Amino acid sequence: MRIVLLGAPGSGKGTQSQRLIERFHIPQISTGDLLRAAVAHGTPLGLQAKEAMAAGRLVADEIVLGMIRERLGEPDTRDGFILDGFPRNIAQARALDEMLAQVDQPLETVVQMNVDYSELSRRIAGRRTCTDCGKVVNLLTSPPETLEHERCPKTGQSHRLYQRPDDNEATVAERLRVYEAQTRPLIDYYRDQGLLRSIDAEGDVAVVSARLEQALKG
Ligand code: AMP
Repeated sequence: MRIVLLGAPGSGKGTQSQRLIERFHIPQISTGDLLRAAVAHGTPLGLQAKEAMAAGRLVADEIVLGMIRERLGEPDTRDGFILDGFPRNIAQARALDEMLAQVDQPLETVVQMNVDYSELSRRIAGRRTCTDCGKVVNLLTSPPETLEHERCPKTGQSHRLYQRPDDNEATVAERLRVYEAQTRPLIDYYRDQGLLRSIDAEGDVAVVSARLEQALKG
């Protein structure tokens, strides 16, 4: 199963990817996660990516494509993968098509996750990550009182939550603008290839998962 999840920041791509991993036993490949790890480790790629990420702009295609090429070469992607946050523009989508054509493993489905602008901003404002285990939670659906009782699998204590630096209001506005200008055209690109399915990605996480699974069944 070779899938792309397409949607604006806050549309739930990461959350739904986690559920698909458990359901289909295929890895999630998130360029955002790969880039954040590179920044955290201070690698040369991370240093190059840092400024664009902090400003909410796209990181240069050659950096992202290099990461994707390397990741898709790993053996755990043999039975499929979920691409989350990649491709982000037409040039990346074309490069991905070429990469996959070379190994005769074309994309099977692209699911567009639709969420209203106001709901996206609300979700992003509530998003927090655990410093220790990396779990992403949302204060809207998991209020602090509930989270207090949950143990971090790494420390055995309550999660230590932080807000992603690019989830602040000004950067989010820029990320949404970049999505509209550069990523939204991918909807037509994949529709023309006959790969696009669209789902309503608002509402309960489990309900959205059910819609997603239905879309993947075709
Ligand atoms: P995300 O976690 O997907 O929201 O990505 C966070 C940030 O990483 C984005 O705002 C971009 O700066 C960068 N990024 C992630 N994926 C890509 C990509 N495919 N192309 C360019 N930049 C990306």
